[in-house]
Amino acid sequence: MTDNPFKKCINPSCNLVYDIDNTTHTCKCGSFLDVVYPSSPSRELTEIFSIRRNPKGNIFNESGVWRFRELINFAGIDTEDFQQCSKVLVSMDGSEGRQSKPYKMSKVSEYANMDPECMFLQPEGYNPSGSFKDNGMTTAVTHAKMLKIYRLICASTGNTSASAAMYAANENMECEVFVPKGEIAPGKLGQAFQFGAQVVQIDGDFDDALSHSLKVANESGGYTVNSINPFRIEGQKTIIYRALEYLDWHPPDWIVYPGGALGNTSSCGKALMELVNWGWIKKVPRLLVINAIGANTFYELTNGLYDGRKLEWNDGKPDIELIRDYYYERDRKGIKAKTKATAIQIGKPANIVKALRAIEFTKGMVIEVSDEEMSDGMAVVGLNGFDCEMASGAVPAGIRKLRKEGVIRRDDIVIGILTGKQKDPNLSISYHMDSGNKFANPPMTK
Ligand SMILES: *Cc1c(COP(=O)(O)O)cnc(C)c1O
Ligand SMILES: [Zn+2]
Repeated sequence: MTDNPFKKCINPSCNLVYDIDNTTHTCKCGSFLDVVYPSSPSRELTEIFSIRRNPKGNIFNESGVWRFRELINFAGIDTEDFQQCSKVLVSMDGSEGRQSKPYKMSKVSEYANMDPECMFLQPEGYNPSGSFKDNGMTTAVTHAKMLKIYRLICASTGNTSASAAMYAANENMECEVFVPKGEIAPGKLGQAFQFGAQVVQIDGDFDDALSHSLKVANESGGYTVNSINPFRIEGQKTIIYRALEYLDWHPPDWIVYPGGALGNTSSCGKALMELVNWGWIKKVPRLLVINAIGANTFYELTNGLYDGRKLEWNDGKPDIELIRDYYYERDRKGIKAKTKATAIQIGKPANIVKALRAIEFTKGMVIEVSDEEMSDGMAVVGLNGFDCEMASGAVPAGIRKLRKEGVIRRDDIVIGILTGKQKDPNLSISYHMDSGNKFANPPMTK
């Protein structure tokens, strides 16, 4: 085996490997692929990452993604050579991941009944396109550029298309986005238009939009930037690096995400597995994934709520039949995912198998919360002066729920990821207009 990165099937009983320089996302066996680096980076790099926080005019130091470039060096470049970085790496002038780090938010910890010194939220909405998606888009678009493919394609509940369209515009690429008609926040749709993408509205849900976009990418040779693309996952690992760096690389007890297509869940799992393998960390934080009640496939399957069978990683041999039966039954009954948190309104989470691996590795948990709980979560984040959308509100809501159940302790160290900024102001306005809501602050009329 050479020293070059490669792609490898995640199914341990298959283990087929593939070169980096193609758009294959799935293995011949039907499973997904990881990007794999043959050598273990030295822990002394943490010093360099820290020094780079004074960027000295280098946008790849300024970027909260590329600052960690040795840990995601699928391009195999000399990471100290600025000229080479500029030629290969795609960046919005260093702005992706630059402002996101954990913050203490006293009102949110009070709401969740957590020790205010122990709970942190990391606002990934403070990325150039307003969501965590930029972390993975900057790496995926870098890979597209390496392959000399200048046409990006994705399906999206809104933020993937906003991010893809932004990078495409900045890199002078074409971009085609497939969105479920009427089911995406106006601010996100507006961004896709604004950044010059071709919007294709699908009369169906996100799952329909995804199969459509994959077909078009396949037929037309476009580059898919959905999270089934393993290079998206590589960039999103840096969300974890920034959180850990803030804690001096002492792992927290919990890391909490909302669950949609489960790309974030997968990237968190991969980041932690690698850090353990490299000997950088010993303790593994528990991953907590929060579904919306109206889009709770992962919750139902992992908790055995469909027909008693529990979906587990099972050494890389999860019960695929169970997933198939579940989807078949949903389609037969015409059940569609339904939640006002449209970013996680997904019935068939594409990364479900990688996410199972992450849950297994971290002894994680999957729970569900209601639209009302997510709205409260979103509102209380606002009261700390931070902005997030309803799907991100699932994070404080979920932490609160597990505090009530006594699973999370008051002095556990918890890092919650606020995935995106509010792009549907009408949700905030209608929340505060209704004095029945927990944190409502209705207007006065004079
Ligand atoms: C995409 C998105 C999610 C879902 O993330 P997955 O990685 O698909 O699970 C959650 N919140 C926001 C704001 C998003 O844009
Ligand atoms: Zn395989």
